[in-house]
Formats: sequence, C-alpha cells, structure tokens
Amino acid sequence: MNKLHGIELHPATAAFLAKPRRMLIGGEWVDALAGQTLPVVDPADGETFCRVPAGEAADIDRAVQAASRAFESGDWPKMRPVDRERLLLKLADLLEANAQEFAELEAIDNGKPVTMARYVDVGLSVDFIRYMAGWATKIEGSTMELSVPLVRDREFFGFTRREPVGVVGAIIPWNFPLLMAVWKVAPALAAGCTMILKPAEDTPLTALRLGELVQEAGYPAGVLNVVTGLGHTAGAALAAHTGIQKIAFTGSTEIGKLVGKAAMENMTRCSLELGGKSPVIVLDDVDPAVAAAGAAQAIFFNQGQVCTAGSRLYVHRSRFDEVVEQLSAIAAGMKMGPGIDPSTQIGPLVSKVQQNRVMDYVNSGYAEGARAAAGGAAGDGPGCFVRPTVLVDVHDNMRVVREEIFGPVVVAQPFDDLDEIARRANDTPFGLAASIWSNDLSRVHRLIPKIKAGTVWVNCHNIIENVMPFGGFKQSGIGREAGRSALELYTEPKSVIMML
Ligand code: NAD
Repeated sequence: MNKLHGIELHPATAAFLAKPRRMLIGGEWVDALAGQTLPVVDPADGETFCRVPAGEAADIDRAVQAASRAFESGDWPKMRPVDRERLLLKLADLLEANAQEFAELEAIDNGKPVTMARYVDVGLSVDFIRYMAGWATKIEGSTMELSVPLVRDREFFGFTRREPVGVVGAIIPWNFPLLMAVWKVAPALAAGCTMILKPAEDTPLTALRLGELVQEAGYPAGVLNVVTGLGHTAGAALAAHTGIQKIAFTGSTEIGKLVGKAAMENMTRCSLELGGKSPVIVLDDVDPAVAAAGAAQAIFFNQGQVCTAGSRLYVHRSRFDEVVEQLSAIAAGMKMGPGIDPSTQIGPLVSKVQQNRVMDYVNSGYAEGARAAAGGAAGDGPGCFVRPTVLVDVHDNMRVVREEIFGPVVVAQPFDDLDEIARRANDTPFGLAASIWSNDLSRVHRLIPKIKAGTVWVNCHNIIENVMPFGGFKQSGIGREAGRSALELYTEPKSVIMML
C-alpha cells in the first residue's frame, strides 16, 4: 500500500504495513501461541488493511516470564542509571528520526489528523521520553535523625531507598496510542522496571513499531514486551497475573474498576487513569471570540476522544448566545476527512462501535429535548465520522450532560453566579480536568480551589506538560502520571534502620 485516500505514504510507513506484524516477547518477534490474528481497520473507510496477533492468556504468561527474567537477572534494574538514561535518550532520538512514519501510522490506525499526530502525539512522546530519561539518575532516598525509645545508649541511623517496583503490566487506550504507551514505558524503564505493554485492540501499530525501536536501540531482551490482543482476554490476563508487581491502566472508568479489583486480589500496585466529563467555564469578562475558539479546541481536538475533553460548556448568561453562535460557526466550518490527508481538521472516530456509541448519545439528547446548534449527525459514507456537534437546550440531568460521550459533542448551558457554577461543575462522578476562562484573577483564584479536578486550566484547555502531575479526582482515577509523581508509581520506598 503506497497510497491511501489519494495521499502518498512515507516509504517507511508503506514498508511497515507491507511486512507481517508479530508481538515482541523476550526480544523475539512471535505470533500468538494459538495462531489467531485480529483485523486492523482504517476508520476513514471501514476497510481492514492489516492484521496483528491476537495474544491471549498464554502469550501474556510468556511475556510476564520474559519480563521477570529481565528484571531478576538485573540486566535492567542493576544497569548503571546513566546507561538506562542513555538508552532512553536513544529511543527518543530514534522516535524523532522516524516521526513522519509514526504520525502516519497513528493517522491511519486511529483516524486522527496526521499533522496533529506529528506534532502532538509524536512530538510530545519524544519530549516525554527525554524528560523521563533524566529521572533515571535522580531517584533518591533521604536520611533521617531517629529518636528510638528505650535504647538511649545506642546510636541509630535511618535512610530510605526507592527501588524499582518490579515487573509492570501496562494497558492503554486507543485515543493517543503512542503517547499513552510512552507515558508508561518511559517512567517505568527509567525507574528500572521491566514491562509488558498491551495496546488497545483498535490501535496496535505504533506500540509494535515502538518495540522495533527498543530493539534497534539495543535494550536487553525482555525489558519491554508488547502483546497485542483483546481486552477481556489479553488485558484481563495481564491485570490478574500474579507475576506482575504493578499494573498501570488508562481507559474507561468501567474497565478501570475491573482492573483495580483484579489487582487488589494480588495486592498488585495499581494506577488508574480513567474517564472524564470536564467543564469549560466562561466568565462574563471574556471576549466571546476567544471563548468560542477555546471551547472548540477543548472539545474538537482529537475528535473529542480525549479524557480531558471540554465536553460541558458553561457560559455566563450575558455571553451565552454570542459564544454558542461563534462556536457553532467554527464547528460547521471544520474540514472533515481521512486523518492521513494533511488538510483534515476532523478525522473519523476510531471505529464503527465508537461512532454508533456517540450517535446513540446524540439521539438520546434529542429524545430528552436537546437541539443541535451545529452538527448533530454522522458523516456520509462508510467512514466512522461524526460531525462536530454543539447541543443546546440541555439540562443537568440529561445523559448527554452526565455521561462521558468521548466524541466531538459538547453540551452548552448558561450559568449566573460563581457558587452555582462551582456546584454544577462538580456535579459529576468524574474529576479529571476543568478550564476557567477569565482575566479577573480574584474570581479565578476563588474558583480554582472549589473545582474538584486533577487539572485546572486557566484561559487554555488540553495543555499537557511533561513536568506536571496528571491524573484524576473521584472516579477519574488513582495516581498521577507525568512529572516527578510518575516515578513514585514505579518505585517502592524502603526504610532502613541501622543500629550503629
Ligand atoms: P477501554 O476501557 O475500553 O479500554 C482500554 C484498554 O483496556 C484497552 O487496551 C482494552 O483492550 C483494555 N481492556 C478492555 N477490557 C478489559 C478487561 N476486562 N481487562 C483488562 N483490560 C481490558 O477504554 P477505551 O475505549 O480504549 O478508551 C477510552 C477511555 O479511556 C475513555 O473513558 C477515556 O476517558 C479514557 N482515557 C483516560 C485517560 C486518562 O489519562 N485519564 C487518557 C486517555 C483515555
């Protein structure tokens, strides 16, 4: 396949798609033990364009054994931290050198616009690996003065160590396949852990290609294993495996709860990055054009398939009509097309299942009295498109307001005062993110502590930064990825008390 939807593919993309794809276990490229495969579908036209192994419990078991050998042999955890750092930097360099191929694979596999994939998915991944590489040499404990009772005539000395937690299972979603992989791989490897990565069944390609780069960079066998497969088989087997010491999951709250329960059975360390229903709060001092552009970016970025998507828009009543009108004009003007086309602004959703799910929500909104100020329909043809949609005439109890839609659909409502908006913004089981739009510092600062969310943006939305902890309050998850906090997810503190 050299051309897709009339667009010439990079020769490296075409070459990757042309060869058989296997899973990476213990440094070898292997088929699933049962010999089964899964289709990989282009969401822009619904056609299967390649297949990947359908790994199951037996394949997961093999991968856990390989990762355990790599950990217990000390090949990785006992490697000099500066050498682990060097290998992570090498991985970042290789990813950067192959950026266009990765962007194209992401665009074909997930449907997202290729230009965005190049600068957001691949660009952020390169930066993130480099940032995390630096932590390999900066994992520290502390020393303590002890006051041990009853043994006053002896001296004691206490210190803490941070040790790699061990073998890590990572299960990731399909919305940012490469970035979500890297968010787990880079801190885990920097900390000295080894890993089994299970990408989402809808988007397995960049995780497999990342495995190739890990091999090319010269990592010891078994440090990173990539097993493709379905969630209820491969994913469930990984979460429940007694050979892992930590499970890192990103995905829906529903599946996150299952993974959390499986982990608790074995006391496996567990971090969960889950769903959201993030509010965008526009106060009355904001230029409606700025608010509309910000609200559009908050919800339509990545076709709304973003855990932090600004899917609930609250605008002060005095500005509501103007903001909704301008936001609807932006939505109506966005160019929809295949992700691989560089002129595309809105690609297809990841799959038919997701398109149907999103349209079911839109239709439930209509049934409960909502009206579309823009969009509100699927795209024409076989692709999984949904038109950028702005729903108005909604109320707080509608399903479209309460549940995560995970598509390009925003519900817009007016509000009157700050106490009311804080209460309504928090009236959700989720607590991942929120944005406040205003230049009135006093009101912004009064609102920030009232919002129950892991990230609050001011005059921006969906800005993800390597150095900032990222994660959710309430049912949006447990734990914080990125920043220094990510290292805590992959290390265990050990207290040492010495009598001198
Ligand atoms: P999902 O929960 O359906 O799947 C996520 C992963 O879990 C996939 O790899 C899947 O194969 C696997 N899985 C499915 N069933 C499983 C089971 N029984 N046991 C173990 N693993 C299983 O989520 P999705 O539809 O791929 O992604 C969308 C969701 O992810 C949204 O809810 C979104 O908000 C969330 N998300 C959260 C963050 C965050 O950082 N908080 C980031 C991205 C996406």
